Amino acid sequence: MADREQTLTEFIIQEQRRFPHATGEYTALLNYIRLACKRISFLIGRGALGGVLGSTGAVNVQGETQARLDVIANDIFLRTSEYGGHLAAMVSEEMDGPYTIPPEYPRGKYLLAFDPLDGSSNVDVNVSVGSIFSVLRAPDHARDPAAADFLQPGTQQLCAGYAIYGPTTMMVLTLGRGVHGFTLDRGMGEFILTHPDLRIPEAASEFAINASNDRFWEPPVKRYVAECLAGRGGPREKDFNMRWIASLVAEVHRILVRGGLFMYPRDSKDPARAGRLRLLYEGNPMAMLVEQAGGAASTGTGRILEVVPADLHQRVPVILGSRDEVARIERYHAEHEQGLDRPFTSPLFNERSLFMPT
Ligand code: MN
Ligand code: MN
Repeated sequence: MADREQTLTEFIIQEQRRFPHATGEYTALLNYIRLACKRISFLIGRGALGGVLGSTGAVNVQGETQARLDVIANDIFLRTSEYGGHLAAMVSEEMDGPYTIPPEYPRGKYLLAFDPLDGSSNVDVNVSVGSIFSVLRAPDHARDPAAADFLQPGTQQLCAGYAIYGPTTMMVLTLGRGVHGFTLDRGMGEFILTHPDLRIPEAASEFAINASNDRFWEPPVKRYVAECLAGRGGPREKDFNMRWIASLVAEVHRILVRGGLFMYPRDSKDPARAGRLRLLYEGNPMAMLVEQAGGAASTGTGRILEVVPADLHQRVPVILGSRDEVARIERYHAEHEQGLDRPFTSPLFNERSLFMPT
């Protein structure tokens, strides 16, 4: 890396120069996404002063309460990205079906899937939130891209990333060659490369899971968590720390910076759903980032990126982070399938534990 300070735009241009026939369309598309994230960052930074906190009182297509900022951030993404002529259509957490580019703008060859505001229930309490995006190629024949055109496995993503609106605003991005983090210089209004080539350590001693769902977890997940909680005296022979922010972007950001494991596994709470997180605009982009940083992202039984979507808002179990830990949970799933797992019990566990193994 050069000593010279590099902006996000310069970084994308540099990546694009590696491909002799590149047209620059891609650079421009990412510039619009960057602009959308800067606009959202500005609004979130104003907080209560911007008059945008609180709920709309409405419920989105997911059956979730919409925060006012969910709607505003979705609108910012649409209005900012539709203009440039690089997109054919967009889908988002906040919209039922695909949004086609209005006729007054040229239409391009890319598809954008996004979660405009991830962790929005955290905004009111001033905890980090973010925006997540994933770029796919529109099928050649698609003059008017339909929902089916978005149903590509995550391995087809051209690029993925997120913005995190925390104490600093950052953009973290992969174009398929590593993961790179850029910090917003608020004075200058530019993202500057500050975290080149993020790598996730293979081993971990931190895990994050919503423990209130303990009773709904699958046996392999119960086993994993019970073993972590048993600490030094248990089969793992070391102590673990637990984290839970309830904001996917913030969880993944922590893992990219210092390792660990994040789980939102399949649970039996609502058997109609295969998990909590959405495949197209949460699971896939995060899985691409984590794999590009040397980690792993699994449903428990296979790579998230290989799941073939059947629905725009399909949910997926998510287990991601340090490679060794993800491999262990996959092994526990395989052993459970074969009836080879023995529920873990230790003298440290008693009937008062919240985390009784099955
Ligand atoms: Mn989300
Ligand atoms: Mn959201």
